Formats: sequence, structure tokens, C-alpha cells
Amino acid sequence: MARSEGSTSLTLIPADEARRILADTPPVGRERVAIGAALGRVLAEPFAAPADLPGERRAVMDGYAVRGADVRGASELWPVVLSVAGTVPMGDVFPRGVGTGEAAAIATGGWLPAGADTVVMIEHIVSLDGGARVEISRAVVPGANIVERGEDLARGAAVLPAGRRLRPQDLAMLATFGVTVVDVRRRPRVAVLSTGNELCDPAETPRPGQVRDANQTALGAQVSAAGCDVTYGGIVPDDASALRRTIARALDEHDGVILSGGSSIGTKDLSADALADLDAPGILFHGIDIRPGKPTLFARAGSKPVVGMPGFPTSSLIVFDAFIRPMLWRLGGEGGRDPWPSRRPARISREHRSVVGREDYLRVRLVERDGGLWADPLPGGSATLSNVVFADGLVRVDTAAPALAAGDPVDVLLY
Ligand code: AMP
Ligand code: MG
Repeated sequence: MARSEGSTSLTLIPADEARRILADTPPVGRERVAIGAALGRVLAEPFAAPADLPGERRAVMDGYAVRGADVRGASELWPVVLSVAGTVPMGDVFPRGVGTGEAAAIATGGWLPAGADTVVMIEHIVSLDGGARVEISRAVVPGANIVERGEDLARGAAVLPAGRRLRPQDLAMLATFGVTVVDVRRRPRVAVLSTGNELCDPAETPRPGQVRDANQTALGAQVSAAGCDVTYGGIVPDDASALRRTIARALDEHDGVILSGGSSIGTKDLSADALADLDAPGILFHGIDIRPGKPTLFARAGSKPVVGMPGFPTSSLIVFDAFIRPMLWRLGGEGGRDPWPSRRPARISREHRSVVGREDYLRVRLVERDGGLWADPLPGGSATLSNVVFADGLVRVDTAAPALAAGDPVDVLLY
């Protein structure tokens, strides 16, 4: 249910609905890259095992390849003596099989000769007659110390889903199967802009009444940490037509635009005006029932997302992490990833009053006290930047919760 607040005419949509709309962001196109350049890139197609892995029975220990039936009954009292038929060459195949009563020396990774199904560890044999025979004086389970053909992966097995951000182990798997080029999503190109007559560049000394633009730096860092290429688009004055032109130009060259400031409904809040005549579907919501960050604006020009972030740096930082980062993952072709993979259970140290329907994000510091872990809410609202800097993480107060009582268990979403 949308909730309006008397003091504004923003129509707030519930946080879950905003998440649903943001998750509908279509992905950018694809490109082909060498696996050496594919770390952190998002796979465009699922990858299935093109063959059995391993392709043959292999030893996983140094020792002797034998027939399991020969060694299963070996004991100190009744040692088994086998004659050594030779050595399995690494990187090649043993030219003949291993028969009953025979063994072949083998190193880890060697292909088992025909007939052999077991490896006796080198530590468990005694070499006799200068290596012509080996004695085994403890039982060996048939099938020990080998990996069967297809035991790791059977041909056709699903291995990597489309939308996987490739990790070193994923690249190892592709290399193992001889896949040296891979179809990935392009890295989204995203422009970040600030708007506000009061803003000046961080390198300048502000005149009375001015503040330095913190959001462009913060958003640029967040956008690039989300796997996108950033363009810093500068500061645009509170002027709807200047904003419209700048956004149109940015959209020509980028896959998405993130604008901060001017997203509320004051006389100088012109972001919604500037986005009013974007290509369809245009503005998808203006206002989320959250705190901080209520005046968040989201539009799409065709497939390209355009975001109006709230102006206060703290609000912008939190809304980005909670809502926009997952949207950019979708834009980059990555789906269904937990936006808060690291959490710590703690207890909130002070009461917090919320409103049913609204989702709150408290900035908290984690403190060990009285044998427990406590989340201490940091003072200050949206206008305070130090609280996100001092915070170890955030506590999300669900839409259904009217309040948190001191001592309530919470999950701290760690920075
Ligand atoms: P607005 O959303 O434009 O009404 O801005 C809300 C508050 O955030 C005002 O105090 C602005 O001066 C401040 N603000 C807006 N944009 C930025 C920015 N890029 N960097 C720092 N503060 C900002
Ligand atoms: Mg403003």
C-alpha cells in the first residue's frame, strides 16, 4: 500500500515494491573476452560440462596402481607381494595393462593403466628386490586413492549459471575444459551527476552558503564497486532545462544515469520535472517509504535506468547500498544476489520508534559489552554524515515493525 505523508505530496511506495521495480531492470548487451580478462565479469550464458571430468580414472596419491582384489586382504601376517610392471609416465599412458599380481608405479594425476582400479600409497609399500617387487602389509580398500572418470563432473552437468560474476575457481573450471574465451555482459557505463545551486567542487573553497559536492565522489565509488564504469558528469544547477539536456546527453553515451539532489518536491527540486519527458516507461516511482532516503526517484528511458538520489550524502549512501546497488547488478546481468552478504547478530541497545509500513535504516556501531554484542545506534539524522562513517553497519527495521525495544535481537548489515 502506498503511504502519503501530510507534509509532502510524494506518493511513497513500500520498500518491497521499489525493490521489485528495480529488479526488473534489463541487462546490458554482451561481449566476448579472454578468460584471462574475465575475472569479476558476469557470465552471459550458462555453462555446462562439455565432457566428463576427469576424462579418465586418475591417481590422487603417489604410489602403485593395482587391482583392488589383490590387496583387499593384505595384512601384516599375510602381506601381499606384487611384481612391478613398470612406471606410468606422467603426461602419457602406460603402454599395457596391470594384471593380477602386478603393480605399476604411478604419481598423483597419472592415468590408471587398464585393469588397475586402486592406488596403494607409497607410504604403505615396501620395495623388494631393488624395486622389482613391492610388499603391501595392510589392507587397502578397492577403489582407494583414485578419482573415477566423471566423478568430479559428469558431461552435461550444470556448472555455472548465467549471471554468475566469475571468480578465480570459475575461471579454473573454464580453463580445465579448454574454454578460453567467454561471453560476458558488457560492464555497464554509468554517469553520476550532482544537482544543486549550492554545490561546489570538492577542490574549491565554498563561498558562504555553498557546500562541497560529496555525493558525486561517494556515488562514483559505489558505482564502480558495483562493477560499472563511472563517468563523473559534474554539477548541474537547479534548472530543469539544463538538467534535461545534461541527462539526455549522458543517456546517449551511457547505460544508466544517477543524479543526486533535487529529488524531493521543493521549488528547487527539479529532478522529477527533468525526467518527465524521458522515453517510455519514464518515471516508475517517486518516493519510497523508507528512512532515510524517502525522496528517491526512479525512471527508465527505454532499457536505461535513471535514478534521482536524495541529496543528503548519508541518505544517498544508504539508499545506494540498499536499493541501487542490486539494481546495477541486474543492469550488469547479475541476478538474485544478496545485497547484504555479511551480517552479525547483535542486540539493539536503545529503543527505536518506527511506523508500520516504513523501512528504517539505523547506523550502528558494534560494541562488546556484558558478554554480548550490542548495536549502538549513532545519533543524528540524514543531515549527519559522520554517523555513516562511524558506523560498523546498518540495522534494517522492517516495514511491519512499529518499533524496536532496547535489547531486541537484530541483524547488523555490515559495511
Ligand atoms: P536536495 O535533495 O537537493 O533538497 O538536498 C538536500 C540536502 O542535501 C541539502 O542540504 C543539499 O545541500 C544537500 N546536498 C545535495 N546534493 C549534495 C551533494 N552532491 N553533496 C553534498 N550535499 C548535497
Ligand atoms: Mg537541492
